[in-house]
Amino acid sequence: MQAIEIKPVEYEHPQDGASCVAHAWARTPAPTTAEQRVELKERIKRLLKEKQAVLVSHYYVDADLQDLAEETGGCVSDSLEMARFGRDHPAKTLIVAGVRFMGETAKILSPEKRILMPDLDATCSLDLGCPADEFTAYCDAHPDRTVVVYANTSAAVKARADWMVTSSIGLDIVKHLHEQGKKILWAPDKHLGSYIQKQTGADMLLWQGSCLVHDEFKGVELELLKAQYPEAKILVHPESPANVVALADVVGSTTQIINAAVESDCDTFIVATDNGILHKMRAAAPGKRFIEAPTAGNSATCKSCAHCPWMAMNGLQNLADLLENMDQPEVSAANEIFVDAEIGKQAVTSITRMLDFAAAKKAKVQPGPDLAQEAKLFSGIGPA
Ligand code: SF4
Repeated sequence: MQAIEIKPVEYEHPQDGASCVAHAWARTPAPTTAEQRVELKERIKRLLKEKQAVLVSHYYVDADLQDLAEETGGCVSDSLEMARFGRDHPAKTLIVAGVRFMGETAKILSPEKRILMPDLDATCSLDLGCPADEFTAYCDAHPDRTVVVYANTSAAVKARADWMVTSSIGLDIVKHLHEQGKKILWAPDKHLGSYIQKQTGADMLLWQGSCLVHDEFKGVELELLKAQYPEAKILVHPESPANVVALADVVGSTTQIINAAVESDCDTFIVATDNGILHKMRAAAPGKRFIEAPTAGNSATCKSCAHCPWMAMNGLQNLADLLENMDQPEVSAANEIFVDAEIGKQAVTSITRMLDFAAAKKAKVQPGPDLAQEAKLFSGIGPA
């Protein structure tokens, strides 16, 4: 087997109203042969059963890990559904194939469960670009604002927030807060924040972080690609820059993008999000054609090539090794997620607010001005 590759990664770190380039790294698992993949998948299935663990995978991880989650009674989904599924599943051990903040969210919601990840160094440029101490100082400087943070943040940042949101529900929650007359402090993704601000008209102060994958999609090159495929519908994740979002037929979270492809009469789509999602899109809408939105071209630096280097740290080999050794004490240090109990207690409030809001929305109960109804909807939660 070839050696594991260490990739240098650059990301945006907002500082004093400006942005600087910061440096990180990602480890890419060694490639596996077709035979090794078959053997590893069988081993993982057997071990998940033996160890009574459930696998929860994000749409951006390796296709094999997505299939394994579905084939073994786990789930493959966006971060909102991952959080909800992990909380409600009876298994005592959750294996989270994604990036670190997803494991932390699972631990915050289910502190009694054991949360393991194939590689704890799998992080996110939004999380890295929003350190808790800098963010706390920013919030302290704007005490009149309701703090809304994206899921892609550390437990400590969530603990400082009034609300946590994901891309599938952020717009609805900000709209709801805006209707209540709240001014908002938003972090960390500047593109998603600015998209929501335009859609809702809310008064929003934006942290200037970005996703290194979505930030690389190119508006000019996307227009050229659309000219080649005029019949195609353009599906865009709102972490993308405004000139890319402006060309979209549908703007939405990963799940919303998949649903749009399934429900549309169109059979060709240009997709601006991490290309890991194409596996699920092809399975959900067989026979349709999916084309990756350009990250390369005249204006490109092609730092990411539409695939998250940290999501790519989840592989079959490290997942199998984790399951094999999860009863060894050294695995706790290397692969288990721990969240400080006090931080977890504070962070759970902002996450639960979102989950309750999403449940109320699903039940088609719209939060209104009636205080009694609000109290029922957001039971056990203090004022935002
Ligand atoms: S794709 Fe972007 S937002 Fe998602 S984990 Fe990677 S860096 Fe973070």
